[in-house]
Amino acid sequence: MRPVIGITASVSDDRLSYMQKHAYARAIESAGGLPLILPPSFDVSLIDQTLSLLNGLLLAGGDDIDPALYGEARLPECGLVTPIRDVWELPLCRAALDRRMPVLGICRGVQVMNVALGGTLYQDLQSQRPTALHHAQQEPPEEVTHDVTLIPGSKLADVLGVPRLRVNSHHHQALKDLAPGLTAVSYALDGLIEGAEMPGHPFFLGVQWHPERLWEGTNAAHSRLFQAFVHACAPSDLS
Ligand code: MN
Repeated sequence: MRPVIGITASVSDDRLSYMQKHAYARAIESAGGLPLILPPSFDVSLIDQTLSLLNGLLLAGGDDIDPALYGEARLPECGLVTPIRDVWELPLCRAALDRRMPVLGICRGVQVMNVALGGTLYQDLQSQRPTALHHAQQEPPEEVTHDVTLIPGSKLADVLGVPRLRVNSHHHQALKDLAPGLTAVSYALDGLIEGAEMPGHPFFLGVQWHPERLWEGTNAAHSRLFQAFVHACAPSDLS
């Protein structure tokens, strides 16, 4: 039996369809998990039963988080928000943490982890924290465009097995103030946080890049992230 990994989904621009890029499910499947795409709901009373079906949670990429949820007024440069995802995913993340369920956050996902636990975001890097690094790359997502360093001794560094990694970058927002309980474990060379985790938790970890678009490439470190996540999700009576 494979561990069941829930993957958060988005909604189409016309709000009529649920959707998620297949790269997330393929990455989980290839690493030995059973992916299950979760439709978001405004009914958060469904969260406990949803989590009871799962062995792990993947918080996937998507639109910006409403700045009101981290106590800020919305700047003009803030992008599209998806209220149903914010309403669903923040308590979903906190409930998964309460269960000590393994959680992997990717791009928006690591931002959800931070905001859910009381952290804040840059609403727009270009206007609030301009650097020479382009975090919203024009190149296709299968191309790596900047380096990140990994903090030695962190779970992320142990899993990836390298001190430094080239990654893709499709974000115009990023973590600003870290939430209590989270530690920064990866940085871009401009000092921006690219990875965070919760020390002492079996697997509560997020990255700002998109490993689901890189795991089939030449650098095995990206697939090791999914393998370690799925492994952490395997209950002891499954193997
Ligand atoms: Mn980046």
